[in-house]
Amino acid sequence: MDILLLGPPGAGKGTQGAILAGRLGLPKFATGDLLRDAVKRGTPVGLQARAIMESGQLVNDDIIMGVVREELAKPEARNGVIFDGVVRTVPQAEGVTRLLAELGRKMDHVLFFDVTDEEILGRIEKRRAIEGRADDDPKAVATRLRAYRDQTAPVLEWYRARGGVQVIPALGPVDEIAARVKGLLGR
Ligand code: ADP
Repeated sequence: MDILLLGPPGAGKGTQGAILAGRLGLPKFATGDLLRDAVKRGTPVGLQARAIMESGQLVNDDIIMGVVREELAKPEARNGVIFDGVVRTVPQAEGVTRLLAELGRKMDHVLFFDVTDEEILGRIEKRRAIEGRADDDPKAVATRLRAYRDQTAPVLEWYRARGGVQVIPALGPVDEIAARVKGLLGR
C-alpha cells in the first residue's frame, strides 16, 4: 500500500508518518530527511541542495525525482511506502504517479493534514529550539510557507481532481490525530 502525506511544514506529517509506518510495517520515505543526510555526508546531491534548503526554497524536481526513483527501487519498498513531504510540486505528483505505475502501483491513499497557520508557526518555533534546523529560522520559515502555498497547495487540488483526498484535522494531541488516521484508513 502506498500512502502520501500532504500538508504544510509543521503539520505533523513526520510524526504521524512514523506511527503509521510502524503500524503498517511500511518504510517511511521523507525527502527532507534524505536530503539533510546527503548534506551532512557531502554527496553531490547534498552539495547542490544545501543552500536551497537553508533558504527555505524547494529543491529542483529533477534532483527529487532521482531520489524517489532510488528509494522505490529498494527491496524494502516493494510492498509500499509512506511518502512524507515527497510530492511538493505538480511535476513531482506526475513523476511519482508514473514511477508507481511502472511498478503496477498507484497512490492508494492521500492524507491531507489540516492545521492553521498560527499553529504551524508555534510548532516550528518550538522545534527550532529543540532541533536547531537552519531552515527553522523566521526568514526561512516564511519562504517555506510561501513555497508551500505557491507550489505544494496546487498538489492537493491535483489529487482532489483525480480521486480522493482524505482530510485529517491535525490539531490536538498526537495520539488523537493518530486515531483519526487509523479510523480513516480502517487499519
Ligand atoms: P518541512 O516539511 O517542515 O518544510 P522537510 O524536512 O520535509 O521540512 O524539508 C526540508 C527542505 O528540504 C524543504 O524546505 C526543501 O528545501 C527540501 N525538500 C524536501 N522535500 C522536497 C521535495 N519533495 N521537493 C523539493 N524540495 C524538497
